[in-house]
Amino acid sequence: MNWITNYVRPRINSIFSRRDTPENLWSKCDECGTMLFHRELSGNLNVCTSCGHHMAITPRERFETLFDGGVFTEIDVPVPLEDPLKFRDQKKYPERMKAAQKNTGEKEAMLVAEGEIGRTPIVSAAQDFTFMGGSMGMYVGNAIIAAAERAVLKKCPLILFSAAGGARMQEGILSLMQMPRTTVAVQMLKEAGLPYIVVLTHPTTGGVTASYAMLGDVQIAEPNALICFAGPRVIQQTLGEKLPEGFQRAEYLLDHGMLDRVTPRTEMRDELITIARMLMGQPPAVMGDLPAPDMVEALPTPEKAAEKPTEKPEDK
Ligand SMILES: [Zn+2]
Repeated sequence: MNWITNYVRPRINSIFSRRDTPENLWSKCDECGTMLFHRELSGNLNVCTSCGHHMAITPRERFETLFDGGVFTEIDVPVPLEDPLKFRDQKKYPERMKAAQKNTGEKEAMLVAEGEIGRTPIVSAAQDFTFMGGSMGMYVGNAIIAAAERAVLKKCPLILFSAAGGARMQEGILSLMQMPRTTVAVQMLKEAGLPYIVVLTHPTTGGVTASYAMLGDVQIAEPNALICFAGPRVIQQTLGEKLPEGFQRAEYLLDHGMLDRVTPRTEMRDELITIARMLMGQPPAVMGDLPAPDMVEALPTPEKAAEKPTEKPEDK
């Protein structure tokens, strides 16, 4: 990586990838009802600036803010058999898939990429709850295996962001088979002595918590994320008892020894850099992801050259 990939490319990308969202778009926080200007909201990683409520963030947006300069390379995931069971509920499974692909603009419920964070090479996988509830089917299994294999090949940590309603029922037993498959993938990392860091986001439930989402060397969660196997409604109905407040939420799990950290999204990147470097036996990150000051001055346009090279490392 050099200043072209770290600095110029993201700038060019940002010019071309600018979404045509109207400037005056406001969204309402589900938690406190504050109207938030979309730019302010996305600038704060979809965390409410008023109450700190963590709203959903797509894997692509997450990667754009996670990797240095927003630069990452997607890793190819082998595409599994389509609709092996010819499943149909109210809709056919392929129809549901098409609708989800259209809504999200993504192929499937997990995105895998590699790049650098704080100049530390990593592989990362992120699950998309908006894609059929982030459900774990054969593709997600393949994605985790591809991510683990890549991390082993590159000898770097794997950081996984989970968000799921569980296994994909349209794939029946084949989706359940992803639990042992992904467990073996995690085992590959452990055998290679590489860190596997899990960031649990709202909500992570079902078979996903019964496999790869709970096998991290370090388990981090976003504030107030629901993390469980069976959801609170099911438990409440079964027991016929009222559940304690905050039950199955990130902070509750932290108090009960199920998690290592609960970290706000806005601090997550720095924390992941620190943990990844520590576990890889590397010295703490000193430089941020901006190019060295002399590089900034060497850039052609006058306004770029005039940019203060002083706003770097620490205040990223
Ligand atoms: Zn709020």
